[in-house]
Amino acid sequence: MTIDVPFAREMQVCRCPLCGLVCSDDKAADSGRKCPRCHTVLPHRQHSRTQLSWALLFTAMILYVPANLFPVMSTTLLGQDSDSTILSGVLVFWRSGSWGIAAIIFVASVVVPCLKFLSLSVLLFSTGRKSCWARRERARLYRVVDWIGCWSMLDVVVVAVLCGLLQFHTISEAEPRAGIFYFGFMVILTMLCTLSFEPKTLWEDK
Ligand SMILES: [Zn+2]
Repeated sequence: MTIDVPFAREMQVCRCPLCGLVCSDDKAADSGRKCPRCHTVLPHRQHSRTQLSWALLFTAMILYVPANLFPVMSTTLLGQDSDSTILSGVLVFWRSGSWGIAAIIFVASVVVPCLKFLSLSVLLFSTGRKSCWARRERARLYRVVDWIGCWSMLDVVVVAVLCGLLQFHTISEAEPRAGIFYFGFMVILTMLCTLSFEPKTLWEDK
């Protein structure tokens, strides 16, 4: 798809992120890259955040491994301790007939993170190559990934609620374990990766 609307960089203008003033690159250079109106430092257009986004995504992917290998919850029932990882927890709930909780945990902790890793990789890889392939669809994908971000902590919330509920029973106890902290950090990093991604780069040709 061809774009006939000029970019700000082609018009050699930049916009102040604070007050919205649009000024020419020459004027910005004269004022020491500061907004003539509010004196906010104007961002350098050449400075891309793609590397930062990749770094956040890779770190999140690495953290997803211990999030799955380490137990997320430890339960004590009738004096017997048992640690459960995300997947073993899903199996326990499934076998006990709590299919709804099992499905929520599976979707929130396996399906959503994996789809997010894949989507962010596609977005970052394609914008890195300045690809003009399916721009509108990729823009829609970005909006979906951004929207999903607010539901990503569902898994952490489920563990917290379960721990709280089980504490009320005198015969059983539950405590969060290391896995859930790795999972929480992983979710935060994918959210930061989505925030650092610049959707305008989807429309850049060069
Ligand atoms: Zn300004």
